[in-house]
Amino acid sequence: MAYFRLLSLLFASLLLSSQTLLNFCHAEGGPEADTKSRVVISEDESPFSYKEEAANGPKQWGSINSTWKVCGDGKFQSPIDVPEQKMAVPGDLGRLKRNYKPAPAQLVNRGHDISLKWNGDAGELLINGTDYKLQQCHWHSPSEHTINGRRFAMEVHMVHMTPNHDIAVVGILYKFGRPDPFLAKLLFHIKTLDKKGTDLGIVNPQDIKFGSRKYYRYFGSLTVPPCTEGVTWTVVNKVRTVSREQLSALRNAVHDGFEDNARPVQALAGRQVYLYAGQ
Ligand SMILES: [Zn+2]
Repeated sequence: MAYFRLLSLLFASLLLSSQTLLNFCHAEGGPEADTKSRVVISEDESPFSYKEEAANGPKQWGSINSTWKVCGDGKFQSPIDVPEQKMAVPGDLGRLKRNYKPAPAQLVNRGHDISLKWNGDAGELLINGTDYKLQQCHWHSPSEHTINGRRFAMEVHMVHMTPNHDIAVVGILYKFGRPDPFLAKLLFHIKTLDKKGTDLGIVNPQDIKFGSRKYYRYFGSLTVPPCTEGVTWTVVNKVRTVSREQLSALRNAVHDGFEDNARPVQALAGRQVYLYAGQ
């Protein structure tokens, strides 16, 4: 516990001292993000891309904007390839405690991804005594995290934040198979999503199933610019399924060129990845 507390504190102070907070709120839709400013992004204004060969591709993110420098020279970047073997197992990882609540939500096309943003109290995730409030979720295709070098069809990120702006993200991986029940409810809205976004009414985040108590834990960053570090990552150790139709709908809804929106894996650089194996 003490070790995690110390790390959390260290990251929190790093985060607070950095000037990238505001940028984060715009990029990942934090509580202070202005919805209007995000939904008007058009294709030709996209400041970064996922295309390896592009001048604004992932390897260049750190030099596109001075506040994105850590994308290029950070040592705690995400996503990573999760090594399945030789995992360190600390004694203080506990069961994931989710206390999500139904709340009004809006589906938003952020250009580089489709995001579901909760307005109001959608509940929280409790990690080592800290409550992280659920803000939004969004989908990446293919998956950003890989397990032992294996990449999957899709990954959802559930983004949580404390009042002090400490960030915790839960990543859930999907391979092709049966439809995902949560996306099934959103499918029509994803297919008809326009620039203005769609109010969905009350959405229960508890409907996003984890499917396992087992998870990986490591410390990393946002996977889009400004790549802010100090993020507590939880990657659920269970690969769920998504249908081809559901994934196509997400890929068709984003702006041209963002069908693939997974950042390449980043160096572990000595970081430990922990496994909570459940009880
Ligand atoms: Zn993400």
